[in-house]
Order: sequence, then C-alpha cells, then structure tokens
Amino acid sequence: MENSIVTCKEIYNDYKRSVSESVHRYVSDNSKLKGFIVIVRVGDDPASASYIKGKLKDCKEVGIPVLVKTFPEDISYSDFYKSLRNICDTKIYKGIIVQLPIPKRLCPEMLKTVIPPEKDIDGIVPGSKFSPCTPLGIIEYLKTNHKVRGKHCVIINRSEIVGRPLVNMLLDLDATVTVCHSKTQNIEEIIKQADILIVAVGKRNFIKNGMVKKDCVIIDVGINRDENGKLCGDVARDVECYDITPVPGGVGLLTRSIFLNNCYSCLTREENE
Ligand code: NAP
Repeated sequence: MENSIVTCKEIYNDYKRSVSESVHRYVSDNSKLKGFIVIVRVGDDPASASYIKGKLKDCKEVGIPVLVKTFPEDISYSDFYKSLRNICDTKIYKGIIVQLPIPKRLCPEMLKTVIPPEKDIDGIVPGSKFSPCTPLGIIEYLKTNHKVRGKHCVIINRSEIVGRPLVNMLLDLDATVTVCHSKTQNIEEIIKQADILIVAVGKRNFIKNGMVKKDCVIIDVGINRDENGKLCGDVARDVECYDITPVPGGVGLLTRSIFLNNCYSCLTREENE
C-alpha cells in the first residue's frame, strides 16, 4: 500500500517545481510577472506567523513576488477597512490574502465585500476566480490516490474555508457526502460508515482508534499542539485505517501547493479574463 500512495510532500514538491518552471518561462517571455501578491496580517498570532512564513518561503523559492502588510491587533474597524480598501484598489497588487483568523471585531464577513473576486487568491469571496486552497488541495490528494466515485465521504466541519466548499467538490466527483458539526447527533455512527473521513475540528485525539473502518481513508486537517508542544492533527496516532495524511506534512502542504498555483494564475492573467 505504502508504495502506491503519492504523499502530500510529493504533491507539494511537484507543484513547486511546476509553478517555478512556469514562472521562469513566463518571465523569459514577458520580462516580468504582472505585479505582487499581498498577505495581510493582523496582530502577532504565532500560528498565523508560521503559516505566513511558509507562504513567503514557497513564493521566494518559485519566484513569486510577495509582500506582507501587518496591522496591529488593536486596529479599529474603520482604519482596517480603509487600509484594506486601499490595498485592494492598488493596481499593482494583483492577489490579496488576509491571513485568518482576524479579530471578530473586524467583521471577517466584510472581507467578502471588499476583496475583488479577481484578486481573491484564497477563494473566499463569492464569484472568486479561485478555488479555496485547503479543499482543493484535499481533492487533489484524493484524486491522485483514491477512488472517490460512489464512496461515502464524511466531513466533520462546516466552515467556509473547509467543509462547505468541499461538499460541492466531492459531489462533483460523484461521492455521497455527509457533513457533521458540533450539533450532529449520533456522530460516532456516522463516522463508522465513512469510506473517506475528512476531519477538521481542531481538537487533538478527536478521532480515536476503533472509531473508523479499517479500510477508511482519513484526511486529517486539524492543527493542534500535543502535550509537548508538537504539532498534531485531530486523529490519534494509533488509529488503524487504510491511509491517513500526516500532521505536520499533510494537508498544510496541499494547501500551500494550491496557494502557489493560485498566485501564479493571478500574476499572469490577462485583465479581461
Ligand atoms: P472552525 O471554523 O472552528 O470549524 C471547526 C468545525 O468543527 C466546526 O464546523 C464545528 O462545528 C466542528 N466541531 C467542533 N467541535 C465539534 C464536535 N465536538 N463534534 C463535531 N464537530 C465539531 O475551524 P476551521 O477554520 O474550519 O479549521 C478547523 C481545523 O482545521 C483547525 O484545526 C484549523 O487549524 C485546521 N485548518 C488547517 C488547514 C491546513 O491547511 N492544514 C487549513 C484550514 C484549517 P460548528 O460549526 O457546529 O461549530
């Protein structure tokens, strides 16, 4: 089994290589990319800092021009709104991502009306030109490694950046999809039926050994810290199943792969596309 699985790391390396080649080809034909990617950061949340660090490293490696605009944790709603509008209106900033979460006070919903769909590389705005990075990365992994058609996919998450977009993507692959959340009754019975389980709860050891079928494929999206401060997912390490994506080194890398791809598309698209 091990040999036939293309790992998340391999998928990530392939994406990086391919985007890097595309950038170099584009630059040799057109002299330079069309502008910059901007990452907007609010406050100094260490998890956000590490995600941003990863994105910057990836962009640098493949030749994508990127910059970070950082705002203080206590910025007022109106100052944040004005600054974000400015960034969005700046022509040379072709792609914009606001690193989530941002404080509730700043009304994260507002992002959907401020970020123009053609600059929304994170795929959160209605009508965005891009698909959300994490769900699309998960689909890439599943399509590469497993049969999805006709399978019962159980998603434990209904957020807009994971569960909701995944439902449609999995339906498009002819899966049968069940979505669970914190109010779901008899969740253990549903989990036990999963051929493919996508878990994004954000609670360590949420899935314990014996809760899933032995031939289940698990996509562990959760990011937590264990008792030693090490990164871990939502699934206990001793869970027996057919295949599971690791944390770290799993869905995070798939997300970064799609992010790079979206950045490249953003910086090479013709204005009228
Ligand atoms: P979120 O909005 O808080 O979503 C958590 C989901 O889990 C919600 O739908 C919630 O249900 C559900 N939930 C919580 N407790 C539950 C329980 N006891 N039983 C069943 N469902 C329960 O968080 P998110 O932004 O989607 O992220 C979820 C996790 O994925 C986090 O650990 C995050 O760090 C990770 N993540 C990783 C990546 C990556 O690239 N690796 C990307 C995105 C997110 P309700 O809707 O009822 O509250």
